[in-house]
Amino acid sequence: MTDFIVIGGGIAGVAAAAHLAPHGSVILLEMESSLAYHTTGRSAALFVVNYGGEGSRPLAQASQPFLEDPPEGSTDTPLLADRGALWVADESQLEHLRKIADEGLESGAGSRLVETAEMLRMVPKLRPERVAGGLYEPSARDIDVAALHQAFVRIARRHGADIRLSSPVTSLGKLDRGWRVSTPDGDVDCSAVVNAAGAWGDRVATIAGIEPIGLQPMRRTAFMVPGDEAYARWPMVVDVDHHFYFRPDGVQLLCSLAEETPSEPVDPRPDMEDVALAIERINQATTLDIRTVSSQWTGLRTFAPDRDLVIGEEPTTSGFFWLVGQGGTGIMTSPAYGALIASQVLGTSLPGDLAGAGVDPARTSPDRFR
Ligand SMILES: Cc1cc2nc3c(=O)[nH]c(=O)nc-3n(C[C@H](O)[C@H](O)[C@H](O)COP(=O)(O)OP(=O)(O)OC[C@H]3O[C@@H](n4cnc5c(N)ncnc54)[C@H](O)[C@@H]3O)c2cc1C
Repeated sequence: MTDFIVIGGGIAGVAAAAHLAPHGSVILLEMESSLAYHTTGRSAALFVVNYGGEGSRPLAQASQPFLEDPPEGSTDTPLLADRGALWVADESQLEHLRKIADEGLESGAGSRLVETAEMLRMVPKLRPERVAGGLYEPSARDIDVAALHQAFVRIARRHGADIRLSSPVTSLGKLDRGWRVSTPDGDVDCSAVVNAAGAWGDRVATIAGIEPIGLQPMRRTAFMVPGDEAYARWPMVVDVDHHFYFRPDGVQLLCSLAEETPSEPVDPRPDMEDVALAIERINQATTLDIRTVSSQWTGLRTFAPDRDLVIGEEPTTSGFFWLVGQGGTGIMTSPAYGALIASQVLGTSLPGDLAGAGVDPARTSPDRFR
C-alpha cells in the first residue's frame, strides 16, 4: 500500500509531492504525457504579494523564503528576478487605484503611489493622458515557473516519489482505510489522496463520490509581441481594472487581455478576438504600436466560489484532500501551500514559518463550503 497518491502534475501536484515524499511513499499520477502541460505551463509568472484573496496573500508571503533561497540542489538557476509592478489608472479609475493602494500598504509589500512623470520615466512608452495615477510595487518579481516546477520534481524524486505520466485517474474507490485509485494501467491502494487536478478538481471529487465545490475554470489568454532591449527593465504594467497587462520577457513583451471567461475543464485555444482587443487597449494606453504577434496561448485559472484557495481534508470523507482553486496565484503561493497540505495530510501542526506569515488554515479549508 502506497502512503500518498497525488492527482495532477501541475505546480500544485508537484509541490504537494515534494513536501510529502520525505515522510512516506508518494505516487503522482498525471493524465497527460508531460508535466505542467495545462495551466502551469501557461502562466505569466509574477510574484506579487498585493494580489489575490485573503487566503492567498499570506501564502505568497510565506513562499518568499523558498523562492529566494531554494533548497540545496533543487535548482541550478535563481527562481526570482527583479521586475516591479506598476498599476496604472486613468482619471475615471483613480478611486479604484486608491483602494488597491490601501490594500498594498496593509500587505507590507512596500507599494507606493506614483505620479505621471515618474511613470513615464519607468515606462516611456505610456501615453501621459492615459496614466493619471499609478501604484508601484517594487517587490514584485518574475518567477522562473519551469525552474520552480522542476525544483519540486527534483525534491520529490530525490525522496523516492514515483511520477507517472499518461496516467489518468478514472475511478476512486473508498476502502476501509484509504483509497483504491484506478488508471488504465491498473489499481493502486493508498492511505490518502491529494486532489491537485486544477480545472478538473470537481470531476476528480465526483468520481470519488464527493460533492463538488463549484470550481469555475476561467480562460485567460496571453501572447508575445516583438520587443526591444530598451524595454527589459520596465516593470510589469497592469491596468487597475484588469483590462490588460504587459511585461518584458527577454527581448519580447508578454501581453494579456487579463480576461476571465468561464470555461469547461478543457485544453483551451486562444480566441483571436481576445488578442486583438488586448492589442487595441495596449495601443490606446501606450505608443508601442503593436502590429504583430509572435505566439499566443490560453490557460484556465480555476476559482472556488469565493475565489480563495481550497486546501485540506474533505470534511465528509476521510483521506481525501483538496488542493485546488489556485486561480491566478497558484505559482507564487506553491511553496507554502505545499508545506500546508503536507502538514494536513500528515496530521502535524502548522509549520512555524507559515504561522509567522499569518497563514490561517481555516481560511482556505474546504469546510467553508459544507
Ligand atoms: C495567463 C495566465 C497568467 C497567470 N499568471 C500567474 C502569475 O503571474 N502568478 C501566479 O502565481 N499564477 C499565475 N497564474 C495562475 C497559475 O498558473 C495557476 O494558479 C497554477 O498553474 C495552477 O496549477 P495547478 O497545478 O492547480 O493546475 P494545472 O497546472 O492545470 O495542473 C493540473 C493537472 O492535473 C491533471 N489532471 C486533471 N485531471 C486528472 C486526472 N483525472 N488524472 C490525472 N491527472 C489529472 C492535468 O492534466 C494537469 O496537468 C496564471 C495563469 C494564467 C493562465
